[in-house]
Amino acid sequence: MSDFKKLGVIGHPIKQSLSPEIHNYWIAKYGIAGQYDAIDIHPDQLEDHIKFLIEEQDYRGFNVTIPHKEAVLDLCSSIDDAVPNIGSVNTLVVQENGGILGKNTDAFGFIENIKSHEPSFDFAAGPALVLGAGGAARAVIYALKNEGILDIYICNRTVEKAEGLAEFFDVNVAPWEARSSELSNVNLLVNTTSLGMTGQPSLDIDLSALPSSALVNDIVYKPLVTDLLRQAQSQGLKAVTGIGMLLHQARPAFEAWFGVLPDVAEDLENRISEKAA
Ligand code: NAP
Repeated sequence: MSDFKKLGVIGHPIKQSLSPEIHNYWIAKYGIAGQYDAIDIHPDQLEDHIKFLIEEQDYRGFNVTIPHKEAVLDLCSSIDDAVPNIGSVNTLVVQENGGILGKNTDAFGFIENIKSHEPSFDFAAGPALVLGAGGAARAVIYALKNEGILDIYICNRTVEKAEGLAEFFDVNVAPWEARSSELSNVNLLVNTTSLGMTGQPSLDIDLSALPSSALVNDIVYKPLVTDLLRQAQSQGLKAVTGIGMLLHQARPAFEAWFGVLPDVAEDLENRISEKAA
């Protein structure tokens, strides 16, 4: 194996991925001998294609996106603690012994995004309300639990999904219909639904009951400033966009492959925000 390292993101389709832009920026910034590619893999060829890339093309790891985030679990010889909690893998690291380590860095990305933009925000100051109960919600709830927040509410259109997650994580359910009325003591509101994303309906919510100290985070980053965040800003609340979650989740993957934990500089955040818009 040479010192030149080949990494990539696998998905189907893959053209939309911003990961090559992020990782190749860091490869250049830290003077690393390597390349990071976007690789389209059809679901029918997942295992064979990954084996080919590792064994014949000398790839050392991958980010994993839709639709492979659950299927790659079968190829992992070891996993980190986040994977069974979040239920999916977003990073593969080829080990010295040929095994594959599966990681999920979304929870790290979610928390680091808020901490980097609002360093004095006190996560423990009150309850957190998470809108949505899909894959991203799992990462957010796992992250909040790791942060020591005991009072977490899941609020989702399909109540059965909220109940399933609430049981798994030992947290509470709030009715979807009460998303505007039960905000009076909420410290952190996170939108993990796809509502508000370009091409999707907007999120119908009234934030006026939120305390003035509350923080609102929308993990949707296309558009960068969603209607939800605009409403939060107009009330003078702390409002954090979702693009930083994408950027910060990439950091531990880069560290696992190259041994350097990269930072999220302002010019990188601006560049990726422009590309995402
Ligand atoms: P997912 O598993 O498909 O979950 C979608 C969620 O949105 C579900 O809770 C669903 O509710 C809800 N939803 C969809 N349409 C709705 C509607 N019309 N009314 C009410 N609720 C609706 O998706 P995901 O993977 O969790 O991703 C969700 C969003 O997060 C996407 O926009 C994605 O781009 C974003 N995301 C961002 C990052 C980041 O790095 N910033 C990372 C991951 C995901 P039901 O259960 O009722 O269907």
